Amino acid sequence: MTEKMPVLFVGHGSPMNAIEDNEFSRAWRDAGKALPKPRAILCVSAHWVTRGTLVTAMEQPRMIYDMYGFPKELYEVKYPAPGSPGLAEQVRRIIKKTEVQPDQEWGLDHGTWSVLNRMFPEANIPVIQMSLNANLPIQDHYDVAKQLQELREEGILIISSGNIVHNLSMVQFRDFAYDWATEFDTQVKNWILQNDHDPLINFQDQGQSAALAINSGEHYVPLLYALALKEESDPVSFFAEKVWGGSVSMRSVRIG
Ligand code: ZN
Repeated sequence: MTEKMPVLFVGHGSPMNAIEDNEFSRAWRDAGKALPKPRAILCVSAHWVTRGTLVTAMEQPRMIYDMYGFPKELYEVKYPAPGSPGLAEQVRRIIKKTEVQPDQEWGLDHGTWSVLNRMFPEANIPVIQMSLNANLPIQDHYDVAKQLQELREEGILIISSGNIVHNLSMVQFRDFAYDWATEFDTQVKNWILQNDHDPLINFQDQGQSAALAINSGEHYVPLLYALALKEESDPVSFFAEKVWGGSVSMRSVRIG
């Protein structure tokens, strides 16, 4: 019997966390060390939004440097993990809520490699990505994610990568938090701990702090992928919890 694999949501924040030694990169490293070794990793990144649901199905995913204006060394990071066409096919088969198409074009975007570079620096575990389908209602994202449950029993680590609070139009590169950002981040923490997912799915009804925190949904919705996979007996813990830059929550969740 394989031990049931935990599920992670990682608040990824700045791509510099891929190479900087800081409180977040250290937290990710330690979170990686605390996990059983996965057989493969499925990542749902805020940085891959598509029409329709896609899953990377190539043997060797390429690096995607989808960020601008950072130091040269960030564009030299390589994360040469193999892909897993077999796992991609399995994902296509077990998700029945929506059609999942194989993809040969994408690869690893920084929502994935910035985190994995710290968590699993040896880059020897196969990685696939599943896209966020912009056409799906929010509830459907949650329902699609639920159908990935059996992968946990097979030693597959599911990581979703985004930020619970993510408003780049208000970000300032220093260590502080807007009151509304702390308010929403704390509210989300409490809903997670109370296992109350309905208000998290219906975030559009949660008032002004939610509207400021989720000004474009793609960084928030990955959280729902992790929460959907929480089973009754799964403990929940936070391996990072801080609002940084005023308007970016680095809160990261381990389920199981
Ligand atoms: Zn991002």
